[in-house]
Amino acid sequence: MVGENYLNVKRKIDAVKSDRKCPEGVTLIAVSKTKPVPLLMEAYEAGARDFGENKVQEILAKYDEMPKDVRWHMIGHLQTNKVRQVIDKVVMIHSVDSLHLAKEISKEAVKKGIVMPVLIEVNVAGEESKFGVSAADTADLIKEAAGLPGISVRGLMTIAPYVEDPEENRQYFVELRQLAVDIKSKNIDNVSMDFLSMGMTGDYETAVSEGATHVRVGTGIFGERDYHLVQE
Ligand SMILES: *Cc1c(COP(=O)(O)O)cnc(C)c1O
Repeated sequence: MVGENYLNVKRKIDAVKSDRKCPEGVTLIAVSKTKPVPLLMEAYEAGARDFGENKVQEILAKYDEMPKDVRWHMIGHLQTNKVRQVIDKVVMIHSVDSLHLAKEISKEAVKKGIVMPVLIEVNVAGEESKFGVSAADTADLIKEAAGLPGISVRGLMTIAPYVEDPEENRQYFVELRQLAVDIKSKNIDNVSMDFLSMGMTGDYETAVSEGATHVRVGTGIFGERDYHLVQE
């Protein structure tokens, strides 16, 4: 079931990609939060190598149990005091939303002798309940983060509102892409705006049609999440 779902999502992405103007690839991130390792392995066996989690504890636990060629993406709000634990476990942090966090990532990456690719999380829809910097503050945060060692700003991420009709979110995907284009045109050293992490189960096809390079799909691959089973 999970393997089939994964392949279905992949096929749908490929179908949209072949119509759209932008030729770059799209990484499908299987968002496995709250799901047990045997289900992750079903996705893995269908070809999934990129997995997304939003809690440090869950990455650490699954990291040890899953094959070593899995690429872990930190997609959730990250507390500075937990950076040290994940810095050498993940391939990218999608959720940088403050200079404070960027500095901590920088510090820990330098200690480990690595350069961590990061995305800046932008709250394009301006939802009160969501993390992320405002579109207006994004360029300033990037300019400051760009000067830090051990960190490489690769693009932007957004979590669009939950909507019934994905067309309602198209405006936000367009806005995120435009923001990336604007920032790219400033030619800030050590900043490439090549990645756009946007689109989830309800709206990933719309996001890909607007230029997403990374989509984060959970429910559409693993089924509904039951938070009653999860210890916070
Ligand atoms: C849970 C989560 C997703 C996946 O959501 P689905 O609607 O289940 O596809 C994507 N991105 C982030 C940041 C998440 O926390």
